[in-house]
Amino acid sequence: MGIEEAPDRMQHKVLLIEDNPGDARLIREMLAEDPEAPFNLHFAERLSAGLEALSAGDAALVLLDLSLPDSFGLETFAKVYAHSPAVPIIVLTGNDDQTIALSAVKGGAQDYLVKGRLDRELLLRSMQYSIERKRYQVQLEHQANYDALTGLPNRNLLYDRLRQAVYSQRMPHPMAVVFIDLDHFKFVNDSLGHGVGDRLLKGMAERLRSVLREGDTVARLGGDEFVVILNDQSSEDVIFRAVQRISAKISEPMTIDGKELYVTCSAGISMYPQDGPDVETLLRNADAAMYRAKDHGRNNFQFYTSEMNERINERLMLENALRRALERNEFLLNYQQKVDLRTGAVCGAEALVRWNHPELGLLRPERFIPLAEETGLILPVGEWVIRETCRQVRAWLDAGLKPGLVSVNLSARQFRQDGLVRIVSRILEETGVDPSSLELELTESTVMHNVATGIATLHGLKSLGVALSVDDFGTGYSSLSYLKDLPIDVLKIDRSFVRDIGAGEGADEGVLAQAIISLAHSLHLKVIAEGVETDAQLRFLKRHGCDQGQGFFYGEPVAPEGFARLLEVTRKKGKRPA
Ligand code: C2E
Ligand code: MG
Ligand code: MG
Repeated sequence: MGIEEAPDRMQHKVLLIEDNPGDARLIREMLAEDPEAPFNLHFAERLSAGLEALSAGDAALVLLDLSLPDSFGLETFAKVYAHSPAVPIIVLTGNDDQTIALSAVKGGAQDYLVKGRLDRELLLRSMQYSIERKRYQVQLEHQANYDALTGLPNRNLLYDRLRQAVYSQRMPHPMAVVFIDLDHFKFVNDSLGHGVGDRLLKGMAERLRSVLREGDTVARLGGDEFVVILNDQSSEDVIFRAVQRISAKISEPMTIDGKELYVTCSAGISMYPQDGPDVETLLRNADAAMYRAKDHGRNNFQFYTSEMNERINERLMLENALRRALERNEFLLNYQQKVDLRTGAVCGAEALVRWNHPELGLLRPERFIPLAEETGLILPVGEWVIRETCRQVRAWLDAGLKPGLVSVNLSARQFRQDGLVRIVSRILEETGVDPSSLELELTESTVMHNVATGIATLHGLKSLGVALSVDDFGTGYSSLSYLKDLPIDVLKIDRSFVRDIGAGEGADEGVLAQAIISLAHSLHLKVIAEGVETDAQLRFLKRHGCDQGQGFFYGEPVAPEGFARLLEVTRKKGKRPA
């Protein structure tokens, strides 16, 4: 319709819908007096003719008499407004029906004018004002309903459309709600920058729009989450193929800044009416199905099934309990010994958190650490772990025991936390533990995904005097040139490489563990193997010069009393911890 680009002095097409020739003439004369007035008047004497004229879509304003031969009163306004909601309307009224005119304004008309009291200036001002005000309103509505980055409908509009589809029908139309999440988008964003991330999202929005049929909707919920509504679909086969098409389109390589990016997506599908009676349930269930797709290794899609709901409920329950676990004192630490492979002496321990859940019993970290990460609860929980470890180390030292170097695992989110260095330093001070007794373990992917921002944190921690170790080494994607410059002390060989040692007759078994040992040594780092379970593994590691070992072969993680007993035994044997 071109309203938006219209320069101020362009001619606005004004549609006057008025059956009284006298009133129509009066208005025409008022506007004709000034040839500079930017209005170009068109007439219709009946509502039907008026609506037809509006269908051309180029009217900038409607002047509307409410009493017409084929329509009367508020109804007249309602029909015009429903026909062209984006066109400003000024209602023309007689002296005696101003209340109706006011109702029209409440219902969305821009203004009303009383015919008997009209003058030229008033009319012109009202027309200008109505056009401006409507333009602004439309813009605000657009901002409220569309995503600024991609131009797609946003969550608001998506809900509106879904609600319309679900509620406004006498006969429910079947449809499918597809929840789409890009795989590893965060990684692209973090490593290539937000500019590239934004362009990727725009490109994906374009692709989604291009593969859909007319009448289907695609919206962006935020981040890298999109929702597609496939209307009038009930056949799983057809939906399956549609989603397959979408996911194939997404997976095509995309070139940004001369770089070819390969991005896949995971999707979950819920169907109306069978998977939920309302918008919220349909979206929640599609989301649950999407999570299942991620669990299945990403780059796939899943139809919702009711047992997914149980999982979601379980997750919610766990999350609620997790929020209270700290104040209820439900966390505890186990300690697993680390052994110096040259002397065979215990040289330290790793603190491993456990959650004593009131109903589910003792939970391993895999059950709750990812959830704690997602919810941010990892920050207070992680801080508790550091403090409790230091408190325990202090207690052992005070009892004359020598626990050696005790390590604590830091999650990615903790590592990115503002003020981490300050928190660690305060805890060391509070508990009176020498920094040289504490080691922090960061996984390889945590370190490598955050190199640019993380290096300062690493140096900060290092300057406190604590030791830094790279956990699960070999599973991430280390850049060796970075590794060389990072202020770290220890590489911890991931247990998968240790498991390979002595696993079969293959000539290359253990070769990766061996490679990591020599890499560590050439970088002047210490190296420890985790997950040592057999004597054969131990001998192999010793033979290749691995410094330390940890694993069930020596002992499982135990309660603090258990580790204290171990230290007692060591002391009595006269073997001193390194
Ligand atoms: P991780 O840091 O690699 O810890 C070693 C895990 O391997 C522990 O599992 C330990 O029980 C297990 N393990 C030890 N020896 C052997 C062995 O010989 N064979 C096998 N198969 N496994 C062995 P756990 O305690 O379940 O911890 C799992 C992961 O949870 C840890 O992996 C660590 O990433 C995380 N985690 C544990 N405690 C904390 C914590 O306090 N904070 C954070 N952020 N993460 C933690
Ligand atoms: Mg660890
Ligand atoms: Mg590990």
